[in-house]
Amino acid sequence: MNKICGMHLRYFDQSALSVRLVSCGRRVGGGSFLRLEREYMDKYREKENERKLSKAEERRKAQFEQLKAKLEAQGYVEHDLTIGLVYANMMAFVLALPLSVLFIIVFLWHNGAAEGSIGLAGLVLVFVLFFVLICVHELIHGITWAIFALSHWKAVEFGLIKEYLTPYCTCSEPLERYQYIAGGLMPTLLLGILPALVAVFAGSWLLLILGIALIFGGGGDMAVVLKLLRHHSAAREVLYIDHPYAAGVVAFERA
Ligand SMILES: [Zn+2]
Repeated sequence: MNKICGMHLRYFDQSALSVRLVSCGRRVGGGSFLRLEREYMDKYREKENERKLSKAEERRKAQFEQLKAKLEAQGYVEHDLTIGLVYANMMAFVLALPLSVLFIIVFLWHNGAAEGSIGLAGLVLVFVLFFVLICVHELIHGITWAIFALSHWKAVEFGLIKEYLTPYCTCSEPLERYQYIAGGLMPTLLLGILPALVAVFAGSWLLLILGIALIFGGGGDMAVVLKLLRHHSAAREVLYIDHPYAAGVVAFERA
């Protein structure tokens, strides 16, 4: 894959900080879910695109526009796979909930409910660890992408969207599909799924709750990856570049 100066951007980690369910005001049947999903996506994406960008975002937006022009001149066609922050949070909840329930069921099945107490001190510890691990979560995005990017750490950047109290990690090079997905899911795998699995065998409620909290924290990442996976391309060459200020990835395809 060509390595052209660009950016990869993770925008909506730690969905657990601000999980909000959007009230749709009407019945959501199976068939209408995708339509509703698109409506919310468009509505909130438009709203988010109106927010004032930080200097770093403006700089990355300009870089993105340059890269986009370069790619289009080379015959690439843009496919916007971004999603709105509110939509991402909603999907984070939808994706993380069944996984968490599954871990709780397996935990109870393996350990029994009798050991189910961690106390107030334990809860405080989970709370503190959660906020520490949120930062580690971003670091893991960065480490994974730094491994894949040609310019390694030079391609990686960290920041915070103040309006949403959402930290993010960016990578300034386009990645291949598996690289993007690996970097996107690695924090949730290492800090959410793995601790929850260990918790089941160790019989630790503390570790289970922490793992579940970080599975919710990575729900936004899962929503982005799901959106990417649902985009099927017949193109020979596809580059995945995060949008410079909206949530999600942009695919550039060339036949
Ligand atoms: Zn993340």
